[in-house]
Amino acid sequence: MTQTTLNTVDITLFSALNVDKNIYQGGDQIVRSPIDGSTIGLVNYLPAADVAAVIDQSQAAFEQWRKIPAPRRGELVRILGEVLREHKEDLAQVVTLEAGKITQEALGEVQEMIDICDFAVGLSRQLYGLTIASERPGHHMRETWHPVGPVGIISAFNFPVAVWSWNAALALIAGNSIVWKPSEKTPLTAIACQALFEKAVARFGSDAPANLSSLIVGDRDAGEALVNDERVPLISATGSTRMGREVGKAVAARFGRSILELGGNNAMILTPSADLELATRAILFSAVGTAGQRCTTLRRLIVHKDVKAQVLEKLKKSYQTVSIGNPTENNLVGPLVDEASFNAMQDALAQAKEQGGEVFGGERQLADVYPDAYYVAPAIAEMPAQTDVVKHETFAPILYVLEYENFEDALRLNNEVPQGLSSCVFTTDVREAEIFQSAVGSDCGIANVNIGTSGAEIGGAFGGEKETGGGRESGSDAWKGYMRRQTNTINYSRELPLAQGIKFD
Ligand code: NAD
Repeated sequence: MTQTTLNTVDITLFSALNVDKNIYQGGDQIVRSPIDGSTIGLVNYLPAADVAAVIDQSQAAFEQWRKIPAPRRGELVRILGEVLREHKEDLAQVVTLEAGKITQEALGEVQEMIDICDFAVGLSRQLYGLTIASERPGHHMRETWHPVGPVGIISAFNFPVAVWSWNAALALIAGNSIVWKPSEKTPLTAIACQALFEKAVARFGSDAPANLSSLIVGDRDAGEALVNDERVPLISATGSTRMGREVGKAVAARFGRSILELGGNNAMILTPSADLELATRAILFSAVGTAGQRCTTLRRLIVHKDVKAQVLEKLKKSYQTVSIGNPTENNLVGPLVDEASFNAMQDALAQAKEQGGEVFGGERQLADVYPDAYYVAPAIAEMPAQTDVVKHETFAPILYVLEYENFEDALRLNNEVPQGLSSCVFTTDVREAEIFQSAVGSDCGIANVNIGTSGAEIGGAFGGEKETGGGRESGSDAWKGYMRRQTNTINYSRELPLAQGIKFD
């Protein structure tokens, strides 16, 4: 492996925020950039045994923070949004360096953080409960929403900053403290977010208790310690289905709550009436964007037999001209995150061939320029049927193509995988569009018409069904997941009538 001397890595944001160099250059765990495999940081992992002390502090912060009125809590999140606007380019630079995202997508990820802050500020004045009619005279009922406690956030490498902000913004306005365990692959972006949060706190003033946000840079053991701690009532975990299976079980065993955002296997149904030009552009962004490393990446194209040849011809042309290379330069496809990811992709392509598929693309690129990084040509695999490999999420740019003849079959194929995150149909037939989004249509958490599977906006609730975990984050009423609901009955009469007309005297 090439060892770039650490001094050559200029992380503007860290200098701008005066982050102590020891935190990102003084440890014994190597952080590599997927761009060229070079060392860009040396961090220390917090031992799992020390996680309990972090939670002690977070619990103390929660006990203060829950007493601050929600609109004032919103003010902190408003300032966080302001700080993110000020440092948008610099934070995006760290995302590119550490996760390998092209600059445009890294900027988009930071914009998503800003958007959720704006959304949460508004919500901080709208944590509405209900008033409910009581059957008893001189009584009324209502529903109130309260903070839950320290919220544990576990995040994946591919959205190293946005996922934290989706959870953090809502948890904070809800009155909770937060404890974040980022991916081992992206500790620097997490250190950057923590520094930005501290800058926001300094501007906000003394209403914010110390340790309102805590960061645990650590490995899976540290994550497990967080998950198993009974003082953390809610764990919001984003990552693989394997991780979610373990985390979900552990949290349920102690009757905690979890929000699970796991793997996807997202499909597009492309019908004969569709605007094929539009569809091809949507396929390209959804299938090859972020080098196929989005949870919402388009992985399956279910295309009508009458337009299949035409669409594949267009697609293959686009795939051949798409620019692959250094994400800081003007390219559309950056690197895979690491060698393991490259090997998993090659393995999936070999399986696709064994299962009757015809593979286009998928080869390693730029190995001579970047021997320690893994760039690939995005692949298209024409499959005879929805075989085992197609049902599995391989976190790389592989688009499986399946043919259909009638719409019911297309729907069945869309739903016949274990995952249920995102889906879309391209059609100009209103019946197909409506059926796709109806109770008998797509079984996914996200079902779009005439837009691709990826690139969700923060205003809607985000999440998916089945092995995707069932959690919802971000917009709509996802905030309720970060609070506890209380039902209140108040008696303002001088009697004590019982409900259901029961007499007890
Ligand atoms: P991963 O599962 O390897 O790791 C995710 C996080 O979980 C890391 O922080 C890791 O340390 C932690 N972790 C792993 N096992 C754990 C355990 N037993 N207890 C506690 N923590 C544990 O995922 P990854 O490779 O970083 O990310 C890619 C995956 O994430 C893909 O499957 C992708 O679809 C999914 N993802 C889903 C969403 C979504 O919103 N649905 C968003 C982004 C990524």
